[in-house]
Amino acid sequence: MRLFEAILAANQRWLNGERGARVPAEVTSALPIAALTCIDARLNHLLPDVLGVPEEQFIWLRNAGAIITGPLSSTMRSLALACAVKGAREIAIIGHTDCLVGHTTTLQLLDRLAALGVDRSRLPPNLVEYFGLFATERQNVLRGVECVRASPLIGPKIVVHGLLLDVKTGGLEWVANGYTAPEPTVAGTAGELFARADQTLETLGQIGNFATSELKLPETRIGEFVSTARDWLHQAEHVAAALAPAAPEPAAPPPPPAAIPPPYLHDAGTSFSELVRKRLRQRKTESNRQH
Ligand SMILES: [Zn+2]
Repeated sequence: MRLFEAILAANQRWLNGERGARVPAEVTSALPIAALTCIDARLNHLLPDVLGVPEEQFIWLRNAGAIITGPLSSTMRSLALACAVKGAREIAIIGHTDCLVGHTTTLQLLDRLAALGVDRSRLPPNLVEYFGLFATERQNVLRGVECVRASPLIGPKIVVHGLLLDVKTGGLEWVANGYTAPEPTVAGTAGELFARADQTLETLGQIGNFATSELKLPETRIGEFVSTARDWLHQAEHVAAALAPAAPEPAAPPPPPAAIPPPYLHDAGTSFSELVRKRLRQRKTESNRQH
């Protein structure tokens, strides 16, 4: 049994009422772990107890939303030092349910900052990028894991996991299992983007007459500029979040690459906007057929 498998097992015992459940001695040589979590105060009494690891073996990094803004960000610097100086060999990005950062849109944030006397003109132009706002907790964990894995500060010997913690029950679940996670592939990344694009278009469609054609689509080639497409999506998601009535966050994880319909995988030479438009036309045909 490996460390985080033991942690998930200890968490299960904790959920079953065995308070103080600990990981078995056979895995303790893999401690300490370095974990990034949100600043949410509801986590204070849960961690590291629900993981079954002793406090002195839990290197706890926190920021609002458990967000990693870049491969060389200050949080990445601390994670790298947790490994190089403090001896962590496994990193976990631990998101949590009901994260207020995740539920805050840029418009709400601007209102709240304005109420505190913060002038919009003095804020960075791209608020989503600067504050790292996200649409779903799960998605944010995946992005974080991806970012840590891609960071030049983290060597290939470090295992990176993504987990989601239920603040009501203390239950943990995998978002990204670092022992089995395949190397992210362009096809997989494009597939994830399309799953999200689909979800976002769905939300925008439900809002009513929102003209999706007005969203400026980036002219970008999948496999070359996936990050541009990702930025566009991120903005579209926030438009959707800002315009949508208070709806529950879509909780479904993006489908694994194998489940993605073949056209997405073979369209590497097609531009992102062409593919999104194609999908929009497809959706329109589908919805016409239903009416
Ligand atoms: Zn939070």
